[in-house]
Amino acid sequence: MDGMKCVACGKTARPAKLSFQGQAIDGWKCKCGVEYFQPEQAQRILLLNQVRKEQFRVKVGKVRSNLILRIPKRIADALELKDGEEVTLRVEGSGEIRVLTG
Ligand SMILES: [Zn+2]
Repeated sequence: MDGMKCVACGKTARPAKLSFQGQAIDGWKCKCGVEYFQPEQAQRILLLNQVRKEQFRVKVGKVRSNLILRIPKRIADALELKDGEEVTLRVEGSGEIRVLTG
């Protein structure tokens, strides 16, 4: 990322690692103190913080002998999950499945 012109003071804001709503985010920081967040990353963090507060009811399906779960689009977008990506499943307790991405 290159520098960008600061709207507040007119100087050049430099690329920086910043924090937005408790998450690390790329952006630009100006010497005058104003921070600019990378807009796509900011949008994803907002979505992530939204879906973290929600519960999703989904139906168990079946493909051949395996059962499948559909992951709602908003969750996939928030976690940047892609078709074909591998995740790790772990059974916790007697009624909980944890899905680890990445
Ligand atoms: Zn500035």
